[in-house]
Amino acid sequence: MTNLRLLSLDFDGTMVGPWLDGKAAVSEELVRCLAALRKGGALLAINTGRNLALVDQGMELFPAIPDFALTTEREVFCRTKQGWEPLSEWNERCHQDHEELYIEAAILLAEIEAYITNERQVRSYREHGRMVGLIAQNNDEMDRTVEYLRLKCRPVANLSFQRNSIYLRFCHSFYHKGSVLKALQTHLGVEPHETFAAGDNFNDLPMLDSEIARHLACPANSVDEVKERVRCHGGYVAEQAGGDGVAEALRRICPAL
Ligand SMILES: [Mg+2]
Repeated sequence: MTNLRLLSLDFDGTMVGPWLDGKAAVSEELVRCLAALRKGGALLAINTGRNLALVDQGMELFPAIPDFALTTEREVFCRTKQGWEPLSEWNERCHQDHEELYIEAAILLAEIEAYITNERQVRSYREHGRMVGLIAQNNDEMDRTVEYLRLKCRPVANLSFQRNSIYLRFCHSFYHKGSVLKALQTHLGVEPHETFAAGDNFNDLPMLDSEIARHLACPANSVDEVKERVRCHGGYVAEQAGGDGVAEALRRICPAL
């Protein structure tokens, strides 16, 4: 039906959504398209800012278990009969790089946390006793916070962050949705021209790159930066929002769907 072998889909706002009364819409059309593509041999990877537990929660919403979960914009898990199995070599290296980063950036992150929590409408969130991310009260406040962090993080070369609307996660600059997708492609022996990627928010930008995935798309609800990136890389900006938009894009690539 198609030469697509790997589908890398963001979850919130892309595979599911928009939200109505706190409930995310699930597109029956996307469910149907994904089932047909997977029947033809394509593999489904959810490439998300969610951690593994939240991916499992998401699967209660969307009626399809993915073949891979690319979590917190950096780790890779493969679905097996026994459940999720880490792509150990990659995940261990990722973990080690972040341990080293957190040692190197400790003083700077403490300064950032003190400033952010005292001066801004932003709160930090912590895991294992250290600040790993920020949550702003609204998008404008996160816009200002990102501007501040761009300058502030410069002294530590590998300190970066991924933003998804009002949420932000600190990370090593090597790890993002693009590098984690490349790691999965290498593991599977899949080429960019066999890969489709779709996302709607800032943290999706690194995978919306025609060098990584030749087939790119974003739903109508995407932030302007994502729409611009997708157009710039020859991808498709859907007219419909959320999963309906992704299905619309997939039908353009695979008219037989
Ligand atoms: Mg999203």
